[in-house]
Amino acid sequence: MKRVSVTSHGLTAGMLSPAASKVCSALSQSGFSAYVVGGAVRDLLLGIEPKDFDIATNARPEDIKPLFRRAHIIGRRFRLVHVIVGQETIEVSTFRASGTETAEKDESGRVLRDNVFGDQPEDAKRRDFTVNALYFDPATSQIVDYHGGLADLRKRVLRIVGEPAVRYREDPVRMLRAIRLSAKLGMTIAPATKAPIKDLAHLLEGVPPARVFDEMLKLLLSGHASAALRQLREEGLHKGVLPLLDVILDQPLGERFVTLALAQTDERVINGKPVSPAFLFAALLWHEVLAGWKTGIEDGERPLVALERAMDNVLDQQCEKLAITRRLTATMREVWSMQPRFEMRSGQRPYRLVESTRFRMAYDFLALRAASGEVAGELEAWWRGFYAAGSDDRKAMLVPESAARGSTKRRRRRRVHSGERTSSEV
Ligand code: ATP
Ligand code: MG
Repeated sequence: MKRVSVTSHGLTAGMLSPAASKVCSALSQSGFSAYVVGGAVRDLLLGIEPKDFDIATNARPEDIKPLFRRAHIIGRRFRLVHVIVGQETIEVSTFRASGTETAEKDESGRVLRDNVFGDQPEDAKRRDFTVNALYFDPATSQIVDYHGGLADLRKRVLRIVGEPAVRYREDPVRMLRAIRLSAKLGMTIAPATKAPIKDLAHLLEGVPPARVFDEMLKLLLSGHASAALRQLREEGLHKGVLPLLDVILDQPLGERFVTLALAQTDERVINGKPVSPAFLFAALLWHEVLAGWKTGIEDGERPLVALERAMDNVLDQQCEKLAITRRLTATMREVWSMQPRFEMRSGQRPYRLVESTRFRMAYDFLALRAASGEVAGELEAWWRGFYAAGSDDRKAMLVPESAARGSTKRRRRRRVHSGERTSSEV
């Protein structure tokens, strides 16, 4: 263990959020130790603004809760306390013993329960990476470093604490975290930390889908999704995670579409704009839906029936593996099923479409389809114009019913291309 003072690491108590400072000082005034730990310490040392602050303490949940006006004990597997101060929620957890020796495990070595309290050295040992096992004490501005995390941080190396294969068996999600954090932080995964991943990737299949989903969502919304997904593929980790990613990326149209969707998402995250997980998942799975839709039509199903069935099939498969929540799938369905309606540019239908609540998202989706070459750019431009136009201009833009019914060469080509039908046929 090393105690490193502020002169050599540069982290000061003033860099903490007001809520984090407040929670730490309340704990220490009551005679407990309190450290900022994990991602926040790591990010501050790297000059990145932390997403949130986690605090580790020797106080037990029932000791912590009464110290704060708004605090809740949460968690079934492991009890911790959420302290709410202003807009912030601070996660306060009691030092825990490392699961490696004590915990109950399944036959693959996965830890099922590790709710045993411990001391700080034990707590450091059960953390995933050395750079995540740094404890900052605001009272002294010292960093406590048990596993050489400060040196690894300087070298930009992500290294697991302990024996890599054992730690991945205990919790396979750590493999996903390795990829996500290395992409987010621009760090290299240490060779020994990386080596077992290929062989152990299949263990992710045994992890509860909701946990995989949470971690995948963090990865996709990290601002570095393109890089992380590339690396997931290289390590063979996409298989148990996004089972259809292989198929999607094998399709020439699909690859361009997915690449564009990810690049656009990364850009939005980096510029601090909101992104919708539903939109992203809808994009990742769109070409699966398209393929199923096309097959249905070829089998003689009515286009809208075929689309419904294709959406059902894709969502059934994905929900089983990824635990995509109902709220997300409802939005994904809306975005998908609005796509054929963009082909209808006459009568009242365009007005109804622009008025629907999901229009913006569905239009953004259309724009992505146009950018990837799946539909004509002219269609996207028409909707952009229609959305922006006043009522007179809108009226002038409408395609006459007769023309809409006629099948132009371009439309026919597009239909064959994407498996879609024109307005008159839907
Ligand atoms: P970020 O918040 O930027 O995504 P983080 O490292 O803070 O990254 P969290 O999920 O917030 O990630 O976890 C907080 C801390 O808890 C980590 O820094 C690490 O010390 C510990 N931790 C999280 N997940 C695991 C895990 N699966 N195994 C061991 N320790 C973990
Ligand atoms: Mg965090």
